[in-house]
Amino acid sequence: MNVLDDKTIVREYFNATGFDRWRRIYGDGDVNKVQLDIRIGHQQTVDTVLAWLNSDGNLPQLKLCDAGCGVGSLSIPLAAAGATVFASDISEKMVEEAEVRASEVGLSKSLTFGVQDLESLTGRYDTVVCLDVLIHYPQDKAADMIRHLSDLAESRLILSFAPKTLGYTLLKKIGEFFPGPSKTTRAYLHRESDILDILINLGWSLNRNAMSKTRFYFSRLLELTR
Ligand code: SAH
Repeated sequence: MNVLDDKTIVREYFNATGFDRWRRIYGDGDVNKVQLDIRIGHQQTVDTVLAWLNSDGNLPQLKLCDAGCGVGSLSIPLAAAGATVFASDISEKMVEEAEVRASEVGLSKSLTFGVQDLESLTGRYDTVVCLDVLIHYPQDKAADMIRHLSDLAESRLILSFAPKTLGYTLLKKIGEFFPGPSKTTRAYLHRESDILDILINLGWSLNRNAMSKTRFYFSRLLELTR
């Protein structure tokens, strides 16, 4: 499958069925048990990033880029805490929803939005964050994306991905046996050592790391600095 196909599939998914599914998961209304479990796991990821950034005590001085911002689950609290945030996503539906949520809490100036493939982003930011996006791309594509995000980041990069371990590889295989609505979202697992090799070659060092994990959600979070 070529690069264009991957991005087209992902964009179309997050503008249609994926939008309905993830807007609900990343919300606070009623959802089924699996979706609730994923909501809780994802919130752990968001809360860890917020805790890291808050603990440095300099959020109001920071210019951040949230690449693949979804419905703004991270961007909105970051902007509310005083950071200047540029949030973008390849799906216009996700960005529209993020804009609605931002305006509901009265955020406008410190938070700006764009509908963009993250590989077309330009500019420089103190910190670039990209959460739960790489899971949608195979390793070679994920590597290109990481290299592009690295060019945008001055001093810090925060990334999450689904780690490729024996247990998760099996879980994913089991998920793929079930057709229909319960079918898992198309997902790629990545080896942590592969991701780290790319980053270290680009001059980054690992600063903090975390693992968010519930029954149906798992995401490895890395903070790189230089
Ligand atoms: N980072 C958000 C959303 C995660 S869902 C959060 O953690 O809450 C994954 C998001 O990545 C979707 O909104 C999807 O549209 C977006 N995405 C996928 N591929 C992308 C790409 N190439 N460029 C920008 N956004 C992308």
